[in-house]
Amino acid sequence: MSKAIYSKNEPFYLNGKRAMVSLGPFSDKQHCPYGCAFCYVQDDFSSYEKLSEDGIITFLKDRQDEYSIIYVSGDTDSFAPPRTKRGVALLLRIATELECDLLFTTRTTFQEDDYRILRLVADEQRRKNKEFYACISITRYSEESAYLEPTPIPTPDARIAVLKKLKELGATTVLAMRPFLPVVKMEDYMLILNKTEGFVDIALGENFYFIRDGKIQVRVFPNGISEEVNCELIHNQKMDFDNNTSSWEVWDSKKYQEAVRKRCDELGVVFSMHSDDAIAEFLHSKEGK
Ligand code: SF4
Repeated sequence: MSKAIYSKNEPFYLNGKRAMVSLGPFSDKQHCPYGCAFCYVQDDFSSYEKLSEDGIITFLKDRQDEYSIIYVSGDTDSFAPPRTKRGVALLLRIATELECDLLFTTRTTFQEDDYRILRLVADEQRRKNKEFYACISITRYSEESAYLEPTPIPTPDARIAVLKKLKELGATTVLAMRPFLPVVKMEDYMLILNKTEGFVDIALGENFYFIRDGKIQVRVFPNGISEEVNCELIHNQKMDFDNNTSSWEVWDSKKYQEAVRKRCDELGVVFSMHSDDAIAEFLHSKEGK
């Protein structure tokens, strides 16, 4: 293990383009209120610092020249209960106190008073001529793969309803079907795309990373890794979206990528395996309208 150590001085991930911030670890024992089987933090994705909302805003203001978009995402779901209201309030503070494109990621559902605040965030971003991306993660659909997103994560249908609502209140909606997993059937991804037709702007995939014999492997492949999947693994890869220096096994999901891309093209949805590329393509297509 070679966890990158975040500190009070370097509490979050900055890569020159993107600042990734979060509410930090949920507790000393649990990095996230949710417990996805494939979550990278279990193996070696680094946990960010736990700062107050004031601390997060100060960091973002002090380092403004080092990024052009803020992600509230990364090492934990900052919107999962019981922190939903704190996460939503943080988005509103970012929108009112900074002037920057903004993206947040979650698997949670929201209540009406949360939606009222999210609408204010969308309005404020629009007033400042900045983007507001609402990214909902749905990694599987069928019951047989429900173990990948265990309770209390809301059902895929509940999260699909959240996407619809976020579109209605003015956000650019992002469906994150990531990572693509060899234990999830292709039909799941097609079903999710079909059920979100008309209210998703961008769809994201991602290759699946895990460390050999690590916690993710045990949870994602409870019956072991099949020979077919074993042959499709790429070894000794680094993550380009985190500072950890571990060597990861990566499942090459080309077949899934091609099928999802084809369906997204039919639906008029921007698709990419990387959010930076997806956003660039989305903005480019928006200019052309
Ligand atoms: S919601 Fe995200 S951070 Fe939380 S356990 Fe799942 S993958 Fe990890």
